[in-house]
Amino acid sequence: MNAVIIQQPGGPEALHLAELPVPVPGPRDVVVQIAYSGVNFIDVYHRIGLYPVPLPATLGTEASGTVSAVGAEVTEVSVGDRVAYAMARGSYAEFAMVPASAVVPVPAGVGLDLAAALMLQGMTAHYLTKSTFPLQPGQTCLVHAAAGGTGALLVQMAKHVGARVIGTVSTAEKEAIARAAGADHVIRYTEQDFESETRQLTDGRGVDVVYDSVGKTTFDKSLNVLRHRGMLVLFGASSGPVPPFDPAVLNPKGSLYLTRPSLGHYVSTREELVWRATEVLDLAARGALTVRIDRSYPLADVADAHRTLEGRGTTGKLLVKVS
Ligand code: NDP
Repeated sequence: MNAVIIQQPGGPEALHLAELPVPVPGPRDVVVQIAYSGVNFIDVYHRIGLYPVPLPATLGTEASGTVSAVGAEVTEVSVGDRVAYAMARGSYAEFAMVPASAVVPVPAGVGLDLAAALMLQGMTAHYLTKSTFPLQPGQTCLVHAAAGGTGALLVQMAKHVGARVIGTVSTAEKEAIARAAGADHVIRYTEQDFESETRQLTDGRGVDVVYDSVGKTTFDKSLNVLRHRGMLVLFGASSGPVPPFDPAVLNPKGSLYLTRPSLGHYVSTREELVWRATEVLDLAARGALTVRIDRSYPLADVADAHRTLEGRGTTGKLLVKVS
């Protein structure tokens, strides 16, 4: 089978097409014939070595497809089922072996492209708004990179619960996307000071929560726009990792909370995974959650997808169309 691997960490050019044997499932594994793989920032972190992986490595952590083989002890799904998954590496390939506990069935009304587009970012938006900081109607949140793959889903999830959403974006095109997702206010943080704008929009009080995936360039001001006892949810590092930080800073700014969550810790049981995935896919099937598929790339062009994502060029989800 064809797969996209790295031999060593590096730039997009480190991604190579290789021929590998089709995996044979262990007793608790399934093999999925991949239809679509999602492209995510975590794939970039794997590629550059920020999150080290054993080498050589097949990259890609999210996919949809059809079960082609199951291990002897698998009860969750059967050969022929349409499934999707996230957080299992090796999806830039024609076939991937995944623990059976990690795959969920894709409902009839949801296409495999949509399923691949939603697993990682959709479940992330779900846990951030329902579990990390369970948003309440009438609360105000600030969502950075609000036109991004995860950002646009976060905006929609926050609006579903009745929160007020302030989004930040870099361009006019992205502003339109964030507004279409439901953002009540959009700040162009490359031209405007998002700290003073947010303070003004909240009459000086500050927001209840900031969902910050940008990291290095936004972190300090994200702390400054919180209300007393508000929460900074730092869930990514698109602009680079936040430098070492003194927790004493949280006190004078108003007894703030800071968390650095990961999806893996919020789908830590089969029950929790199925709950989140089912809610996200059901919302999509009803048209209550929309994902904008920005571009689909053939397997051989995954490096271009990485360049687009890192180059701030995405307005929605990037997919790899495998079969
Ligand atoms: P996005 O579609 O959000 O793309 C990243 C966006 O970040 C860009 O489009 C850009 O939006 C913004 N950005 C700001 N500064 C930079 C910069 N210097 N370089 C590149 N982008 C920048 O990507 P994803 O939705 O795939 O991921 C978003 C973030 O969420 C990532 O950091 C990822 O690691 C994190 N994440 C974390 C998870 C978790 O569980 N912790 C799970 C899923 C994602 P603009 O141009 O508008 O500024």
